[in-house]
Amino acid sequence: MRSLIQVFAFVVACLPAAAIAQTAPEPLSKTYRVTRANDVEFQKIEPFKVFDNLFYVGPGYVSVWLLTTPEGNILFDSAQEPYVDWVIGNIKKVGVDPKSIKYIILSHGHVDHFGGAAKIQEASGARVVAVAEDWKMIEEAGSRSRVPKRDMVVKEGDTLSLGGQTFKFHQTPGHTPGVLTTEGITVYDNGKPYKAILWGGGGYRGGLAEAEQSVKSADKIAQIQGVQVNLQIHSWAGDDGYPGGGVLERGVMLKSRKGGAPHPFVDPDNFTKFVKQAQENAAKAVQEEKQKSKQ
Ligand SMILES: [Zn+2]
Repeated sequence: MRSLIQVFAFVVACLPAAAIAQTAPEPLSKTYRVTRANDVEFQKIEPFKVFDNLFYVGPGYVSVWLLTTPEGNILFDSAQEPYVDWVIGNIKKVGVDPKSIKYIILSHGHVDHFGGAAKIQEASGARVVAVAEDWKMIEEAGSRSRVPKRDMVVKEGDTLSLGGQTFKFHQTPGHTPGVLTTEGITVYDNGKPYKAILWGGGGYRGGLAEAEQSVKSADKIAQIQGVQVNLQIHSWAGDDGYPGGGVLERGVMLKSRKGGAPHPFVDPDNFTKFVKQAQENAAKAVQEEKQKSKQ
């Protein structure tokens, strides 16, 4: 008679590969980006505190970051309908008065990032910040959705200071003509400062010129030294999430973090890898676009 172990081994060997693969849980990045992308109620995740002065207040698939300072608060991106009232609710839920928001900084001119800016501006009186090229994109979207009026226009090298923060802005086009990257965001973990960046959008959406821009932009990001925290504009990045996990995976790790353990969002090595990967992808995209234009 065969032992139980032999029988078990036989049964496992007979299972189709797909049945075994199904037992591995799907990464949160994929669930929020793909599987339940249109499930509005599911996307309404609870806001959470990431650092002493930083909260995640967006839906599951697109980030809205709320940075607090003693002189007023700053919102990075605004999500879009039907999530905007809920984002405003999240801001209140973490104890922040929307009227204390001084700036809404838009990463780029796609509606999932700027779609809530007009309503949040009304609720807060905040200035809305974007690059000229993407203000143009936002204005052109005006016939399809509600858009904020052109307000603060920033360009490469501009700075913005508020409550002990001094940001430096970079134009990193490719994904759109006016992607805005914010360098010099300081976040605190139990009082200890870390240097964060918000890269306003990598990659490109077709075209040789855009692919070439994305190479230059990735190179520009690679030159920024000492980044310890990557504030992703989407909870996901790449097919399997940001290496080591996207925002939501790291949020889960943060929840169960033991006292004194490293902060899961402080991950300089993974940021370096992420940028290197982006540089390689951009270089590849240029080759592909050149190939296409020969055909
Ligand atoms: Zn986009």
